[in-house]
Amino acid sequence: LIDLQNVAKSFKAADGTARLVLDKVNFQLKEGEIVALLGKSGSGKSTMLRIMAGLIPADHGDMTYRDKTIFGPVAGIAMVFQSFALFPWLTVQQNVELGLEAQGVPAAERERRADEVLELIGLAGFGGALPRELSGGMKQRVGIARALVTNPDVLLMDEAFSALDVLTGETLRNDMLELWEESRIPTKGILVVSHNIEEAVMMADRIIILDSDPGRVRCEVKIDLPRPRDVESVEVRALID
Ligand code: ATP
Ligand code: MG
Repeated sequence: LIDLQNVAKSFKAADGTARLVLDKVNFQLKEGEIVALLGKSGSGKSTMLRIMAGLIPADHGDMTYRDKTIFGPVAGIAMVFQSFALFPWLTVQQNVELGLEAQGVPAAERERRADEVLELIGLAGFGGALPRELSGGMKQRVGIARALVTNPDVLLMDEAFSALDVLTGETLRNDMLELWEESRIPTKGILVVSHNIEEAVMMADRIIILDSDPGRVRCEVKIDLPRPRDVESVEVRALID
């Protein structure tokens, strides 16, 4: 689905010098897989995701989505943010419809699709609520609904569960995995950024570690266990510990 070849990115530091954040990153997201990207704080995980979402440009390298070069935001790629990134003055329904408005989808169709995806994610009946009236877990469900409403092929999740308490995060993670396993979402590939090894082991077919200074893909672990996985099972414990 997505192919990054030798992607590099630097940012100007406060003292004016350039800091290389990503250095020759090679990465593929293939159809049918969930990949977890792990790495220390500052290793460039969010930067890599933002580049893939077309939100910021890379300095060097090639990046394709379904063999077409990515230059900016792509209709088939959607992102979920750690801090939810909801518009506080818009209702749940309006927040979810945003992605469709950008694509010029007519109002009646937008409403139908928003209803559908809100129901799917467990927020039926909350369309008229404002974000501040919702719990953290529900806010992130809105964030996920907004990403899913455009029927994306690729879902990029940047620490989507880490602003939530443990139980809420796990529940939402399991709900997402269930939708994925039962093919109730159209998404063909998911990339989850995390610094929680357990989360990565519970979700991913493949774990990638990003090294810092400069960020570079260091190693890769394949996880050949069916989902749902039992966190207490010997195989899962062995990977986490
Ligand atoms: P975390 O786990 O804390 O989310 P991360 O791996 O997602 O970290 P990034 O957010 O990608 O890391 O940031 C990597 C480095 O790039 C950091 O040193 C950060 O300060 C720097 N950086 C990111 N965005 C910018 C920007 N817009 N301008 C300048 N520096 C930036
Ligand atoms: Mg980050």
